[in-house]
Amino acid sequence: MPAAKNQSLFEEPPHTLVKALKYALDNPALTQADLRFAFRTSPELILSAHRPLICARTTKAFRARYMPALENIDQEHDYENPLIITLDPDHVQPDLFRDILHYWYTGVFERATNVLATTFGVEATGRDGIGVKDGPQHANIIDPSSADASARLAEDMFNLWKEGTYSDVELTLPPLSRPSSQVEQPLLPPGPYHAHRFLLSSHSSYFSAMLSVSLAESTTLALHSDIFPPVTLTSFLHFAYTGHLPPIPETSTLKQRLNHFELLHLAGDFLGMGDSLCVHTAYHLAALAHNLTTCRCDQCQQVLPPLLIIAHRHLRTGTSSLLDACGRVLSDPVGMHLTWPHRPIAELSPPALRDTIASCTITRIVPANAIDSLQSIHALSMALEAHAAESWSHTITTTMLKPILTHTTGLIVAGFPTITSSSPTFLACVDGMGLSLDFLDFLLVHVVKQLGDATVGKVYQAVVRDLLGRGSVADNFAEEVGGDEGRQGFGRDRRGNRADVSGW
Ligand SMILES: [Zn+2]
Repeated sequence: MPAAKNQSLFEEPPHTLVKALKYALDNPALTQADLRFAFRTSPELILSAHRPLICARTTKAFRARYMPALENIDQEHDYENPLIITLDPDHVQPDLFRDILHYWYTGVFERATNVLATTFGVEATGRDGIGVKDGPQHANIIDPSSADASARLAEDMFNLWKEGTYSDVELTLPPLSRPSSQVEQPLLPPGPYHAHRFLLSSHSSYFSAMLSVSLAESTTLALHSDIFPPVTLTSFLHFAYTGHLPPIPETSTLKQRLNHFELLHLAGDFLGMGDSLCVHTAYHLAALAHNLTTCRCDQCQQVLPPLLIIAHRHLRTGTSSLLDACGRVLSDPVGMHLTWPHRPIAELSPPALRDTIASCTITRIVPANAIDSLQSIHALSMALEAHAAESWSHTITTTMLKPILTHTTGLIVAGFPTITSSSPTFLACVDGMGLSLDFLDFLLVHVVKQLGDATVGKVYQAVVRDLLGRGSVADNFAEEVGGDEGRQGFGRDRRGNRADVSGW
């Protein structure tokens, strides 16, 4: 489990294994329970269960002593005629057994006092007497929220997956037509992918539907290879059996990790696991960023677009805070040059996300930050120009940069005297802080383009009075007029621009 570096944005989601197993216990018909525990009481009490889970959670000695029929591995599965095990009330009272059953499924005792008094299974295990491997410690019973109990449950279920005991479905993948770029998962067992119907059905509405209609048919279920590359499928299975995602090899690249989580999220969406697998995937993806709101490093910039996509895909599953956080960072008007000039931004899906980012950015550009925003736009335009031959650069330029440039410049033109005279950034440029003259050029060119009858007078007055009046300006513009061929960036446009400026 990676450290939750973005905890303030996205709390670690709860483990969903217990929830799924509780669902299986409470819905025996929907999860094909193949086992009945019967008490010859009056009326007769029947409790449904799933044979793989009981075997995963109890010791062999315990089963041999109290449920010898369970050890008959050769018995055919027949959900219509489940295996019936009659329990002796002298060994365990029905109410107590119900509590024990609950513990086997969830790792939690609902009524701890009952269990403390039982001698059920003491002979066989020599421990606390309910047959659970290693036996629950009394402290766990009294404190049902104990992490040990849930870890034990996950470990038992992981072993069930590895050993495949009573596995009753095989998931198959048609061969991929293209080479997989997935990360390797050496810790996970290779295919074929054996699993248990009750667990898949408890986690996923897709599996619940697919496995219920094919009960009497083949125990093989073919999955789509494009949705479930092998690594994605094994990661899903690991999650289904343990409640958490498997670790990713340290050697995998950031790109491989992003790709892995994106595919896993799509698979979770396909399986109807929006509030479990999808949320966990989003959490792990977010944890790849150092800090979404403050860190502007390359890694965090790469994490943002896929995180925004999956946060948007699952608005309904409680990731709205994540979407808000991503959107807030991406629509920061003074950070556009950092977060936008990347191919994934042009390829955001749905494309409307780009429009949302652009419009949110516009709403955040106000007179007080207009100059700084324009400076970010200037840097963004240079970054995009470096990739001018690539279509993604063109997409960002036309759909995001241009409308924001128009809006920001319009804002500056409308409030030119106030905005320029109160902007430290602008005044630093005017005072000739080296490369900032490129930005000043950029600003003036676009201001001139938007000048109208109502604004030209004010702008001209401000330029003459406030801008040219500053001591440092005369020198700088004298240098400009003198020409300098060596300047980078927008120097090519400068001559034409200069004519405009001198015409004010
Ligand atoms: Zn970072």
